[in-house]
Amino acid sequence: MLHISPGDPTVYGNLPPSSQSVEAVITAVKSSEHNGYAPCVGTNSARRAVSIYLSRDDVEPRPEDIILCSGCSSSLEMCITVLADGEKGQNILVPRPGFPIYQTLAECMGIETKLYDLMPERDWEIDLTHMESLIDEKTAAIVVNNPSNPCGSVFNIQHLRDIVALAVRYRIPVIADEIYDSIVFPGHPFTSMTAIGAPLPILVCGGLAKRFLVPGWRLGWIYVHDPVGAFDPEIRKGLQALSQRTIGSNTLMQAALPTILLETHHSFYDHLIDVLKRNAEILFENLKEVKGLKPFMPQGTMYMMVKIELEEFPCFENGLEFVKKMMEEESVFCLPGEVNLKGIW
Ligand SMILES: *Cc1c(COP(=O)(O)O)cnc(C)c1O
Repeated sequence: MLHISPGDPTVYGNLPPSSQSVEAVITAVKSSEHNGYAPCVGTNSARRAVSIYLSRDDVEPRPEDIILCSGCSSSLEMCITVLADGEKGQNILVPRPGFPIYQTLAECMGIETKLYDLMPERDWEIDLTHMESLIDEKTAAIVVNNPSNPCGSVFNIQHLRDIVALAVRYRIPVIADEIYDSIVFPGHPFTSMTAIGAPLPILVCGGLAKRFLVPGWRLGWIYVHDPVGAFDPEIRKGLQALSQRTIGSNTLMQAALPTILLETHHSFYDHLIDVLKRNAEILFENLKEVKGLKPFMPQGTMYMMVKIELEEFPCFENGLEFVKKMMEEESVFCLPGEVNLKGIW
């Protein structure tokens, strides 16, 4: 069986982590200095490393703006929990198609999710008219995932400005899932939402999983970007309190973090982009020759959306059946888009 479905870059062993990362963890273990509990929000040196790593385009986080978490999923959970309240009937807006975990996390807490559409014909930009139509007085946050899983899209600055302007107009904070921050192909530079310079409070979620090729190491972070002081003090305090539920993230990874983030060689990043782009191109070139399939060339990440023109395949009712048959006949397993449309996980 050829599994091309998981968002786990380690599955085929062709993309090992950098030697700096591996050595940093070994050193941390051997030192025996990191076997105890650390502060729940993370050690000072690890928080400082993330703040330096995220400094760019006039955005300069302070170490105290960073909270370390057990993977980016846990960052997302804390952000949704701190901003929205299920008991008050609040809702959050999430992308469709999108990463299903937003819905899973929100629904566990009784928080309603409203799905805003992305537009395939416009490089998967957000349909802002649709997004605006979903906003009501109970909307507590907007989740924006850029670069996008599963669309492989990277928003340009103008689109980011438009999204930010809408959020500012309705005074709704944003949860920016930027886990693929620098996994972008040439010609599609990544801009963080925080770099737009708007008076908008943003909780940025990121982590080691994808760019450093170590999802199992479970290290993520939240950057509290708050140019207007809207998160002061309740949201900051809330995040600190929530971090006490898990007693913080893995201390070995925290000890290794400064080396991983700040000393990884450029060649490691370049190689990753090279491999991902080359594979995306091979897949794209071949799939587009198949009558009835319309692949969308990604601008970054490690995903590709493929449209199935069902009128060309009268034997299939929907994409799910297509995927099932591909598994039975060709032993190739990819994810049906339905997973990203309705939150079936
Ligand atoms: C993989 C992924 C995450 C979760 O990352 P972890 O650090 O492994 O928890 C979050 N958001 C998106 C869009 C992802 O693809």
